[in-house]
Amino acid sequence: MRKYFAPDRIYTTFDQISPEVLENDGICAVIFDIDNTLAPYEEAEPSDKVREYFSALHERGIKTVFVSNNHGPRVELFSKTLDTPFFADSKKPLGKNMRAAMKLMESDSTNTAIIGDQVFTDVWAGKRQKIRTYLVPPINDKKNLFFKCKRMLEKPIIRKYYKDRGEDIRNADEAIVRTWWKQ
Ligand SMILES: [Mg+2]
Repeated sequence: MRKYFAPDRIYTTFDQISPEVLENDGICAVIFDIDNTLAPYEEAEPSDKVREYFSALHERGIKTVFVSNNHGPRVELFSKTLDTPFFADSKKPLGKNMRAAMKLMESDSTNTAIIGDQVFTDVWAGKRQKIRTYLVPPINDKKNLFFKCKRMLEKPIIRKYYKDRGEDIRNADEAIVRTWWKQ
């Protein structure tokens, strides 16, 4: 069961997944989560860092689409200046908007990836489409019980990821340790 949820790679921040990283992995189309992957919930518009990152991707011919579980107005406002189409209320891990995003980018399971912060929405959605999955720790996790439970359930999957690589999660970057170890 764990292999069904295991991300292909974990990075500390979205911009570590550079155009070069994507090209080396054979990826030319990326489905993005928004909340806590690129910006905290309370930031309505993308930061300069996000803008520069998206420009760098587009310059290299890498296509981008947002597939968010958040609502239309939030997703529309965030995506407006990033030259990136969007799907809101996507109900990840369900596949409808994932497939629609790939159709829009004219990509397939061999050259598409998803970047997100949650195992049971983003990674699972990617696994269901058999695309490459990149996980990042949440920028600013909500402190409520629901999210604490989610991270607790993710913990064994993330520990296994490091174990399989012969690494110790306690030596990972601070944001990763905070999210998936010290819960
Ligand atoms: Mg998210």
